[in-house]
Amino acid sequence: MSKATSLEQHYIIGGGIAGMATAVYLIRDAGVEGKNIHIYEQLGVAGGSLDGSGDAESGYMIRGGRMFEKHFACTFDLLDTIPSADDPSVSVTDDIMAFNRMVPGSSNCRLVRDGLPAEDRYDLTLSAHDIVDINRLILQSEAGLAGQSIEDWFKPSFFESNFWLMWSTMFSFQPWHALTELRRYLRRFIHLFPGFTRIAGILRTRYNQYDSLIAPIITWLRDRDVKIATSTQVIDVTIDGTRQDRRVISFALADESDVQVSEDDRVYLTLGSMTGATTQGANNRAPDLHDKEGGAWTLWRKLATQNEGFGHPEVFCGNTNKTAWHSFTVTMNRPDFLSLWRISQTTGRAPEDLSLSLIQVGRCLSSCSTSHISGAKNTVPIPSGVTVCVVTDQATSSRNRCGRRQATRSSQSFAGT
Ligand SMILES: Cc1cc2nc3c(=O)[nH]c(=O)nc-3n(C[C@H](O)[C@H](O)[C@H](O)COP(=O)(O)OP(=O)(O)OC[C@H]3O[C@@H](n4cnc5c(N)ncnc54)[C@H](O)[C@@H]3O)c2cc1C
Repeated sequence: MSKATSLEQHYIIGGGIAGMATAVYLIRDAGVEGKNIHIYEQLGVAGGSLDGSGDAESGYMIRGGRMFEKHFACTFDLLDTIPSADDPSVSVTDDIMAFNRMVPGSSNCRLVRDGLPAEDRYDLTLSAHDIVDINRLILQSEAGLAGQSIEDWFKPSFFESNFWLMWSTMFSFQPWHALTELRRYLRRFIHLFPGFTRIAGILRTRYNQYDSLIAPIITWLRDRDVKIATSTQVIDVTIDGTRQDRRVISFALADESDVQVSEDDRVYLTLGSMTGATTQGANNRAPDLHDKEGGAWTLWRKLATQNEGFGHPEVFCGNTNKTAWHSFTVTMNRPDFLSLWRISQTTGRAPEDLSLSLIQVGRCLSSCSTSHISGAKNTVPIPSGVTVCVVTDQATSSRNRCGRRQATRSSQSFAGT
């Protein structure tokens, strides 16, 4: 990138961690002044998928648990720059490392089957054939895998293995998902295999990820005059020129205003998708099953229709039944729910310190994590005695075993107290 001038404006569409990282790097590495950076976020709060909201009265909502490990080089490079919420002399990276030295993320029992620790919980129960299939996949070039699903590659018995139970719930895979995606994850996380049955090597943040990651970045950006416009949806982007030589000339906001973009300005689209089109239920109401597309998918579809080279959004959002996932957050004043599942006895962890335990009941499988420490500086404080538990529901080996159909385009969540 050429040297920044004081006139050029930088427009970032999407206020998730990708958009915020763009702003941090523009300031830190490209010398752009914060006042010339504008982030547009359609929701009322920035942070995208790294969310955490609610309170002990009305219930918390965290749409899922996101795992880190120490080789997240780009993430930690970003977080090295950002002071932690509790102690500005310590970076967010150092805070995460210190917390994980104090509370290492390891579980005595990741697999709870029918209320008891699974006897074979330290065994991946892969057959020799399965191991060969995994190795073949890792070594295969991606080009030859297009259009294949995971179930096209593996024998049916693979989907009954403990490896698949743990892997699929950890990374939200289903047998009908893309084989290329599984290959990418296998290659990316292969070094975690030795501690996999104990979830060793997975790092956690001190608080919920909004408070530990997003809130400190927002503070850093606001201190540098970056403008973060929340509740501001971009509904169209006008691009001029050919694929080789094109540029954004304007974009339109949902309030019907337009932003004109000069030749010197830059536009960055960081729309995400994973929690796009979330549908939320309540204590007494399941999430609506209507097929709501949401700002990220709508804009991507428009861009792909009108311009060459913007990919194929329909591959990802064209069949909601196959791509949606389901999670719920439980807020507990007493540890009844976890006692019911005998969590402490089976995992050997305190109820408020549960990292990704899998609870298998018949053909249904839930991946369950609880948050650890409440903090005075949290924007989402958790009072002492209250435990928040995030559960991602997943069927095990064949489709629709839990009798539940999922309906939003990419995700839906159920907030329960
Ligand atoms: C349940 C779950 C589990 C996950 N597990 C892991 C994990 O274990 N490890 C890991 O590394 N990652 C994990 N991830 C993925 C990780 O959270 C995401 O990759 C990351 O947060 C994506 O950041 P992003 O900024 O690209 O997108 P997002 O976080 O989706 O942010 C995009 C933002 O753009 C906004 N936006 C979209 N369209 C528009 C528009 N038209 N106008 C204005 N704003 C718009 C959205 O509202 C959103 O806030 C998980 C995610 C979820 C949901």
